[in-house]
Amino acid sequence: MIFIGIFGIKNSEEKIRDVDFECTGCLSEKVELYAIRKVLELFFIPIITLRKSHIIACRSCKSSYQLKENKMEEVLLKGKVRYDDVEKILKEF
Ligand SMILES: [Zn+2]
Repeated sequence: MIFIGIFGIKNSEEKIRDVDFECTGCLSEKVELYAIRKVLELFFIPIITLRKSHIIACRSCKSSYQLKENKMEEVLLKGKVRYDDVEKILKEF
């Protein structure tokens, strides 16, 4: 029996919705919210979600920001992200 290569870790991203946020990079307000999951797979079948986080990405300049997970409920409800909801800047152009 061969055990090599049956496990894999995959990052998946899923677009949730457009949100209101003024990008600090280009001041555009066209920003998309994504759920990022790190998933452990067995034979290419997702078994366990190791980590889940949410980011927003600017459509114009591709800047991205990681959001605070404890603010996600409010963000999803209102469709609006405030600077206070941002955990850290991942990439700014
Ligand atoms: Zn931008």
